[in-house]
Amino acid sequence: MSPASASTPSAARPTRVAVLGAAGRMGAAACRAVEDADDLELVARIGRGDDLTAVADAGAEVAIDLTVPSATADNVAWLIDHGIHAVVGTTGWTEESLEGLRERLAGAEGVGVGVLIAPNFAIGAVLAMRFAEVAARYYDSAEIIEMHHENKLDAPSGTARHTAAAIARGRAAAGLGPVPDATEKDPDGARGAVVDGIHVHAVRQRGLVAHEVVQFGGVGEQFVLRHDSFDRISFMPGVLLGVREVASHPGLTVGLDGFMDLG
Ligand code: NAP
Repeated sequence: MSPASASTPSAARPTRVAVLGAAGRMGAAACRAVEDADDLELVARIGRGDDLTAVADAGAEVAIDLTVPSATADNVAWLIDHGIHAVVGTTGWTEESLEGLRERLAGAEGVGVGVLIAPNFAIGAVLAMRFAEVAARYYDSAEIIEMHHENKLDAPSGTARHTAAAIARGRAAAGLGPVPDATEKDPDGARGAVVDGIHVHAVRQRGLVAHEVVQFGGVGEQFVLRHDSFDRISFMPGVLLGVREVASHPGLTVGLDGFMDLG
C-alpha cells in the first residue's frame, strides 16, 4: 500500500468527518453532533460490513470510531495507513493493542497522523480520573465501582481501567504500598477484579448509561468521587473536542485529558 500523507484540516472550510459505527447508539449521536457543528461536515456514515474505502473516497480528514472492541483495532490501522486522523471511543484496547498502534504510527504511513483513544469522552469523567490520581496520594484505601447498561460488551470499563491506573500512579508517587485488605477467602470473586492493584466492581443494569464511583478511605473518613452520564449526549462535547484537536496532536494520545489544559 502506498503511504498516504495525513491531511491537515483547514480553518477556512469545515473539517470532513466520517463516523464508523454510525448506526449504533454512540455513532448516531456523534453523527448528529457533527451535523450540528458549523465547523465540521459529515461526509461518511459507516456501518458493519461497509467498505472502509468509502471513508477515503469521501475525502474524510478525521474518522470517529464508535464500533465494537473486535473491530476497532483493524479500523484504526486502516485509517492510519490512509493518512486519516482517528478519534476512537470504542473500548477494549489493551496495552498490547496500543503498542501495535504506536508501532504503526511510527511507520511510514503513520507520519503526521493523530490518533486519540478516549476511554471516556465525558468531561466530568475525565476530571474524575485526574482528581482520583491526586486523591490517591492521601488515602490508604481506594476502590472503584463502575456501572453501565446491560448491553455493554466488556468489563471492567475502559474508564475504570484508566482510573485504576491513575490511582496506582498516585499511590506510587506517594510511596503507598498495597491497599489494606485482610480477605483470605473469596472463592466467588466477591472482591471484584484487580486492576493495577485496585479492586474494581462492575455493575450491569438496565436503565443505566455510564457511571463511576471512586471511594477513598482513610482513618475515620471517606472521600467519594462520582460521575454519571445520564444520556449519550454527555459524550458529545468531548467527541467534538477530539475531532477538532486530533490533527494538531500527531501520534497516539490516550485519554481526552491529553487535549485538555488540566495543568
Ligand atoms: P452499539 O450501539 O452496539 O453500536 C456499535 C455499532 O457499531 C453498531 O451499529 C454495530 O453494528 C457497528 N459495527 C460493528 N462492527 C463494525 C465495523 N467493523 N464497522 C463499522 N461499524 C461496526 O454500541 P454503542 O453503545 O454505540 O458503543 C460503541 C462503543 O463505544 C463501545 O465500545 C462502547 O463501549 C463505547 N463507548 C465509549 C464511550 C466513550 O466515552 N469513550 C461512551 C459510550 C460508549 P451491528 O449492530 O450490526 O453490530
